[in-house]
Amino acid sequence: MSSKINTLLKGIAAASGITIGNAFIFSKEKEEISHESIDNVTEAIKHLEDALALSKKELKKVFSLAIDKLGEKRASIFEAQMMILDDPVLIDNLKGRIRREKKLPEYIVDDEISKYIHLMNEAHEMYMKERSLDIEDIKNRIIRNLKKKKWKSKISSDVIVVTTTISPSDTVLFTQANVKGYVTDFGGLTSHAAIVARSLNIPAVLGVNEATSIIKDGDVLIVDGFHGEVIINPDEERILIYKNKINELNLYDEKLFKLRNKPAETIEGKEICLRANLDLTKEMDLIFRNNPKGIGLVRTEQIFEEYEAFPDEDEQFEVYNSIAQKIYPENVTIRAFDIGGDKVLPVDLHESNPFLGWRGIRLLLDNKNLFKSQIRAVLRASQNKNIKLMIPMVTSIEEVFETKELIDQCKKELKKEKKSFDNDMHFGIMIEIPSAAVLTATFAREVDFISIGTNDLIQYLLAVDRGNEIVSKLYQEFHPAVIRTLSHIIKEGKANDCKVSLCGEMGGDPLALPLLIGLGLEILSVSPSIVPLVKSIIRKLKYKDTLLLADKCLTYSTEKEIINELNLFYNSIIDN
Ligand code: PEP
Ligand code: MG
Repeated sequence: MSSKINTLLKGIAAASGITIGNAFIFSKEKEEISHESIDNVTEAIKHLEDALALSKKELKKVFSLAIDKLGEKRASIFEAQMMILDDPVLIDNLKGRIRREKKLPEYIVDDEISKYIHLMNEAHEMYMKERSLDIEDIKNRIIRNLKKKKWKSKISSDVIVVTTTISPSDTVLFTQANVKGYVTDFGGLTSHAAIVARSLNIPAVLGVNEATSIIKDGDVLIVDGFHGEVIINPDEERILIYKNKINELNLYDEKLFKLRNKPAETIEGKEICLRANLDLTKEMDLIFRNNPKGIGLVRTEQIFEEYEAFPDEDEQFEVYNSIAQKIYPENVTIRAFDIGGDKVLPVDLHESNPFLGWRGIRLLLDNKNLFKSQIRAVLRASQNKNIKLMIPMVTSIEEVFETKELIDQCKKELKKEKKSFDNDMHFGIMIEIPSAAVLTATFAREVDFISIGTNDLIQYLLAVDRGNEIVSKLYQEFHPAVIRTLSHIIKEGKANDCKVSLCGEMGGDPLALPLLIGLGLEILSVSPSIVPLVKSIIRKLKYKDTLLLADKCLTYSTEKEIINELNLFYNSIIDN
């Protein structure tokens, strides 16, 4: 134990809750290479062959995705990488050395491939130097695949993970080890890692800056996800205070649980349709516990991170069908893969601006086979008429036309194959890019529903990276431009007979709720863990007052004035 008793670190309160536990420093970048000797050469060689095969499988996926968009030439990088994995000279060398030197495959792979990299770096041609990066990539991929199983078993249960940054797929892996909390050096409130932590009810403090250098493995930590605080090595008194707070929270949860069968309605009886977002199949339990009115957003790309590969149509059908059946007679809105941005699937294209790049519907329309496999799977799971399909990252109406055409094609194919589906399945879009917000009326006339993705809408409207803690102060949920844009979308959508919902994190913010309802929002989809709290707040609202509140907020020109107004309002309903 190194830090002083009660050392306090501050960061972003990314997922609420309080937890006490031991720190586990997780470092992804510095893969330690073990020099350990081995006894069982046959097993080591099998291990190497498996890792090579898995690396090849991953690269195949990357290649097939890259080829459509980047063209043969650039995609050939990945093809070349695949060829290296088949290179008999390299493989013989690796196997020969394992047999002779009796060392772990990870050591042999690192040492052998590093020799090539070294040679290439010594070359004078720029081309060779650049190719050495590809070889480095391959080396890391094989080592990662060699170490993966080990790493999973290495992380002890019930720890608080402390790491530099955390990807959504890391979060998924950590859940398997029953992680109690997260602390990271970097990352913002609406990064996907934070969203996943929130949906699983795991307290998280992100963007702590020097967490990984100050906190040591095994340090006792208190993570306060409400206030964005981490206390290192707390004394007995501090531990007792926080244990009491945890008890109070548990009691509060039980109180909220009693609302499970009550409607989410205001004091006058105006009902708000309160749905839940689904990121991980594990959350189904929480959904049943908290009893929302269906599922307003399934982040399919997130669910399939659990599979570690792109699922084919049948695999997808199984998942969508099972969700639809479980939630029946309520509805579920499946969102097409929103790959890209900070949600990296096995595609590693090194875009310099991934959030402005090949993401969501752009990537899907460039990969029609992948997209069609998803549309067909969703259609097939729609037999009970409780599934809707929605597309992310829409910028232009042409993307809607193209998608509708694909849906028609898929319907025709399924009819021919005598496979049943809901011919009237509702189709909608996410409005999360300013161009789509401006064109709400145009879109509303073409689709059955609109769902506002505030996480991205705020990021794109204000030009602030949602995952970057350096600019997190500028990521203003209550910026006047955000409020007026929301008002515009809701009004224009409704004026064109199109249902408007909201599925971004803003919907779960107690301060934002009265404002959103006052702006005319009647359908909300929030993180499953927060459904009871949102319901309890809605039940304290007078609809008439929220309308006045929204009118007032629309007149302000600074975030500060809006927040002041919302605080006053919130305190008045909580006091009552
Ligand atoms: C959003 O952008 O608000 C949203 C719901 O989608 P995601 O967070 O998955 O980008
Ligand atoms: Mg989004």
